[in-house]
Order: sequence, then structure tokens, then C-alpha cells
Amino acid sequence: MVPSREIFWNIPFGPAVLYPLSVIVLSLLVYSLYKRYRLRLTGKGKVSSVSLSKRLYNFVVLALTDGLEHKRLLKGTYPGVMHLLLFWGCLVLLMAAFLDALSYYWLHFMEGTFYLVSSLVFDTFGIAVLIGVIIATYRRYIQRPSRLDNTFDDALVLALIFVVVITGFFVEGLRLVATELKENPQWAVWSPGGFILANLFSGLADKTILLWHRILWWFHTLVALGAIAYVAIVFSNLSHILIAPINAFFVLLKPKEELEPIDIETASTLGVASIEEFSSKLLLDLDACTRCGRCQDSCPAYLSGKALSPKRVIQNLKSQLVPLSPSLVKSNNPGHSVIGKVVTEGEIWDCTTCGACLVHCPVYINPVAKIIKMRRNLTLMQSKMPETIQLSLSSPEKGTPLGR
Ligand code: SF4
Ligand code: SF4
Repeated sequence: MVPSREIFWNIPFGPAVLYPLSVIVLSLLVYSLYKRYRLRLTGKGKVSSVSLSKRLYNFVVLALTDGLEHKRLLKGTYPGVMHLLLFWGCLVLLMAAFLDALSYYWLHFMEGTFYLVSSLVFDTFGIAVLIGVIIATYRRYIQRPSRLDNTFDDALVLALIFVVVITGFFVEGLRLVATELKENPQWAVWSPGGFILANLFSGLADKTILLWHRILWWFHTLVALGAIAYVAIVFSNLSHILIAPINAFFVLLKPKEELEPIDIETASTLGVASIEEFSSKLLLDLDACTRCGRCQDSCPAYLSGKALSPKRVIQNLKSQLVPLSPSLVKSNNPGHSVIGKVVTEGEIWDCTTCGACLVHCPVYINPVAKIIKMRRNLTLMQSKMPETIQLSLSSPEKGTPLGR
């Protein structure tokens, strides 16, 4: 007999309910993304002035190095490894679902040695996700590094991932005990996660196994779809899975030290004072922030005890953007001023423009460009600058040494 498994085993009406539900949830996600990005694209200026081929090339390089290889994230070993386990584990489990569907409906390749080896690979990566969730939970709630702030969303995201994967193993274990363990036990060991649980269930009556398998299959499926719906409706932290690649695609393709020139002759306003005046790219940036705090941990101003935290600047600006509608952004309503309200003048002047935040941000957010724009507005539109800077500018004019 050729090793294989029956998709939708013990699940009558599975496809008839699952597919319409999946279409509804995925449509909700696409609509939600469209609505959100319509708002971001109403920002000032073009999102990109670089050719599509150059952007695509750069995107592929970033996807391979910082995405698949986790080069940037692995600069911090503990959080890097944690994210690597979650990222690769979830990616492989998604691929598993896709390959199962492809084989079931069209190509019928999930059998024999390929089926056994792929079962082993998928289970291994599923276990990797569980380890990743445990490491993340330990770090977030036991170690509690200062760069992380904990919200309900963070806990819910970890819980959702854990529940989806562990119930997947329970479903597999119940199926194995009712099928492979009875008829072909040598196949069952190729699914180590399910196999361990299957041995726990081996004393249960057949009727109970079938009932629990069916209940848990639906629970597992509904929680997985619910997680996607949650991302679509709430735009939780998990949405970075979708937004980070978009931000990577539009990443700045120039040296980090290069400042955007100002056209004093034609500009109607100098710098940025309100959220509506940021460029589309800088607005896109705000959504991608995962609140990981890497920028804060690398910021010399923050580390030397100054008021500035690039993470807080990004989060505070984002809090102004989220409630806005596209019509408000287009109307150039000056009522959403950020300087002095969500970002203090002290924070704006604390920045040394070193660019460390930019280099360490795993999703390519640019706090320094936003700070420079607000600083330009302070100096050029509001004629405000700290006394020390006034002094250093006026001393050479007067021909007096600095500080006298
Ligand atoms: S550029 Fe500014 S905000 Fe970024 S790390 Fe340097 S001092 Fe901090
Ligand atoms: S700006 Fe980047 S590095 Fe800073 S908290 Fe957000 S995602 Fe993390």
C-alpha cells in the first residue's frame, strides 16, 4: 500500500463550508488593506521616484537577506532566533496547506516517500513554531526587556499562533490513532508531533476519537480563519507580515545620510508640522512598526538619557494617522499638528541624525527623516531653535568664540 492520507477525513461538508468562509475572510483582508493604503497614498509626493525594475531587484535582495536569512534580525541573537523559528515555521505550515490543496485537487503528488518526508518536515516546523512562541512569551512576560511594551494584542497574537498549531497537532494525533496506527503504524512515526499525542489517545473508544477529531478540526480551522479576520479588522501587530514587505518594496534607495533638499523658491510650506504633510512613504512607514524597540536600543540620544525614543516618535505619529480619513488628509486640514503635541520640541532636537535607528529597524522605518522634517518646520517656519544652536550660529557671525 502506498503511504498517503485522506484530506478532509472524518469532516463531512468540510470543503463546502471551509472554502466560502475562506473567501469571505480573505476578501475582508484585501478590502481592509485597500482602505488603509488609500489613506496612506494621499500623503504628499510620489511614493517612489525609482524605476520599477530597480525596486523589484532591491526587494528580492532584501527578501533573501533580511527576510529568508534574517540577517538584520539575527544581529540580536535571542529575539533573532525567536523570530526565525516563528517566521520559518509559519511559512512552511502555510506551504503545507497550499501543497495539500494542490495535490488533493490537481497534481496528486502527496503519496509514497514524498508524503512521509513532507509529513516529517511539516511537523518539525510546526514544533519550531511552538518553541518560538514559548521563547517569545518567556522574553516578553518573564525577562521583560525595557524596549518592549506589552499590549493585549501582543498576548492575543501569541495565543492565537499557539492555539492554531497545537490544535493542528491534536487533530493529527487523533487521525493517526484512528487510521495509521491501526493499519500502517510504520507511517505514523513520520509525523512526530501527532505521533506523540496519538499514543496518549490510544486508550479512547473509536467513537470518542472520531467525535473529538471532528470538533477539534473545526475549532482549529475557525481559530485560523478568525486570526486572519482579526488582522483585517483590528490591523493588529501581526499585520506586519503583510505591511513589512510593502515597506521593503518602497524602502529608501539612497545613502542614509542624504537629506532631502528643499526647494525654497516653490515650497508653500517648509518642513512638516502636521501629519497630513508627511510624504506617502513616510506615512506607509508608520503602519509597519512592530514596536520591537530595536531603534530605541540603538539610539544614542535615548541611551544617554535624553527624552527622544524613535520608537515612541513613530508610535505617537501613528496614533494620529490611524483615525484620519482620506478626505481629511486631502483637505490639508491643519488641525492635526504634531509638533509640541505628539512629538515634543525636545525630542525633535535630541536627534543626532546618526541613522542608527534606520540601520537597525527590521521593517525599514525611517524615524530620522520624519524628525528632520519637523525640525525644518521649527527652524524655517516657526523660527524656533534651542539656545545652544542659536549661540553656535550667531557666534561665527559676531566673530566671537563659541560659548562667550
Ligand atoms: S538618527 Fe536620531 S532617532 Fe535615530 S538613532 Fe540616531 S539619534 Fe536616535
Ligand atoms: S521603528 Fe522599527 S525598530 Fe523601531 S520599534 Fe518600530 S519596527 Fe522596531
